[in-house]
Amino acid sequence: MSLRVDFNRPALMGREMEYIQQAIQSGHLSGDGEFTHKCHALLEQELGVKKALLTTSCTHALEMSALLLNIQPGDEVIVPDFTFVSTINAFVLRGATPVFADVRPDTLNLDEKQLPALLSPRTRAIVPVHYAGVACEMDEILRLARPQEIAVVEDNAHGLFGKYKGSPLGSLGDLAAQSFHETKNFSSGEGGALLINDPSLAARAEIIREKGTNRARFFRGQVDKYTWVDIGSSYLPSEILAAFLYGQLEQRVTIQRRREQLWQTYFSALQGWANRNSIQLPTVPAHVEQAYHMFYLLLPDLQTRQRLIATLREQGIYTVFHYLPLHLSEMGQRFGGAAGQFPVTESVSDRLVRLPFHNALTQSEQEQVIESLLDFCF
Ligand SMILES: *Cc1c(COP(=O)(O)O)cnc(C)c1O
Repeated sequence: MSLRVDFNRPALMGREMEYIQQAIQSGHLSGDGEFTHKCHALLEQELGVKKALLTTSCTHALEMSALLLNIQPGDEVIVPDFTFVSTINAFVLRGATPVFADVRPDTLNLDEKQLPALLSPRTRAIVPVHYAGVACEMDEILRLARPQEIAVVEDNAHGLFGKYKGSPLGSLGDLAAQSFHETKNFSSGEGGALLINDPSLAARAEIIREKGTNRARFFRGQVDKYTWVDIGSSYLPSEILAAFLYGQLEQRVTIQRRREQLWQTYFSALQGWANRNSIQLPTVPAHVEQAYHMFYLLLPDLQTRQRLIATLREQGIYTVFHYLPLHLSEMGQRFGGAAGQFPVTESVSDRLVRLPFHNALTQSEQEQVIESLLDFCF
């Protein structure tokens, strides 16, 4: 009789509960209190970014990016076809036209070699996603974007504390969006952050996040009243969420070390088996330090992938597939998406399976997953 092995399971990793209690006792539960400031300082110091602002989600950090960049109807935004809907939806909400790019067959990241053909005079932004926490080829993306003043917004939902050629992910684009959703390495249930590297965007970001008011400047004593100064919305999380998140971020070394260990265990236990059965394991280029966000397998075909998910499920092991190609979604088809346009995405979307991988996964749970995989009949 085997135990149930969840795909993801939220867990307390440090002093989250104590900090929530402190937040409540401090009498400040709305946003931008002590714990929010602690999270901002930690992210700014660790990543070397000009400014970090907690948001209610990564989706909202991306929406803030679209507002900050003044994205207008008809502007084009380039995104990988293999990503979560928010990567592009945040820009479509401002009227942008999505321009999808296929992904690389090795890292499953936006294929930078496709960019020259996709750039147009209407291109306003490129939004690379560091899939599984493995960096995109940022030098090439920035080299193409910079001379044309095209903004680069990193969707770094998977990549917190990963690096590209020694630089932290999230510090490379003009802006970057983090996620603290339950399924990410660090979580507050729902949550996110906007990282700002272009200093000219910092002041307005605070305003957009605070309902279009200069409230942040007022609290710093820089203006004597606070008032409506720009468009904006409410993108700041409560102190209860920031307190929980700070408890997690404080344990970043332990959490990342644990995830690295889980990743390496999967990799070394499955390498020979994968080779024998034509299964592709994740690729991590030598100049990249990955963030250990997930462990995936690329099976030979859709049928084998579906049979593997079903077989493991019968044994109580929960594995999941990932993104469907955006261009084939209902919305994507309205923007002209059709089968065959992005062969790599269409293929990996059918063949990818994500193994149980989270901060609380135990050694015996992981052994059970590995054993079931090695026993699977092809
Ligand atoms: C999780 C995720 C998001 C959305 O994050 P939320 O915090 O849930 O809004 C966006 N992009 C990618 C690549 C993600 O994995």
